[in-house]
Amino acid sequence: MLHLEQVSKQFDGLPALAQVSFAVPAGQLTAIIGPNGAGKSTLINAISGQLRPDSGAIRFAGRDLAGQPPQLRPRLGIQRTFQNLRLFPQLSLVDNVLTGLTCDAGRSLLMALLRPPYLRHRERQLRLRALAALDRFGLTDKADWPAGVLAYGDKKRLELARATVSNPRLLLLDEPVAGLNAVESAAVANQLRQLRRAGQTLVLVEHDMALVMDLADQVVVLDSGRCIACGPPAAIRRNPLVLEAYLGN
Ligand code: ADP
Ligand code: MG
Repeated sequence: MLHLEQVSKQFDGLPALAQVSFAVPAGQLTAIIGPNGAGKSTLINAISGQLRPDSGAIRFAGRDLAGQPPQLRPRLGIQRTFQNLRLFPQLSLVDNVLTGLTCDAGRSLLMALLRPPYLRHRERQLRLRALAALDRFGLTDKADWPAGVLAYGDKKRLELARATVSNPRLLLLDEPVAGLNAVESAAVANQLRQLRRAGQTLVLVEHDMALVMDLADQVVVLDSGRCIACGPPAAIRRNPLVLEAYLGN
């Protein structure tokens, strides 16, 4: 579904990604692991368009995304969450989730002002979808709260609700359980398992090795911006290069 070919990115002359190549098969969970500073978030940012690689190709649905703006991604069916949360704190939970749907809402300002009946019907439908997404992540009773007052664990769940509400073709998750307690991360792990079972294509950056080994179909290991290994979890677990990269830290 997604192909990275020799993707490179430098910051101040230092390589954050060095000729990274791998493929993300449809309907599978690809985990990206590696020590702190390995380039995992940079890689997600390059795929999602927040960051433009210096060179290389990122092919999705028959086109190279590498030089394309981030706004294109949701239209192609690519959604993401951020390691450091990006929510609208004054907006309600429902409205935050609705921002994950607006790209296919087809609304113009004039239409919004005129509010013809069919549009009001459409808005009601979108709201119902947003509420269903909140329900999947156990946030129904807080649907009208401003997002800013939520506890950290709820904010992480809200990001997942927003990223999944549009049924994206490709979902990019940057450390979705980081900072959660054991109960909360087990709940999120369960959600990820269900998404995967439903055939969702996922790219997951994650530190929790037990979670990665449990969920991933394929593991990509980054170290100092280089892809040092790529394969099924069982093979990665006993790869000497991987062991060295982790023990070296
Ligand atoms: P990871 O997510 O694996 O911990 P990152 O992708 O965040 O690693 O960072 C990889 C390297 O690139 C690090 O050395 C980091 O300091 C550097 N880096 C990341 N983003 C920037 C940026 N916007 N400006 C300068 N350096 C950056
Ligand atoms: Mg990171």
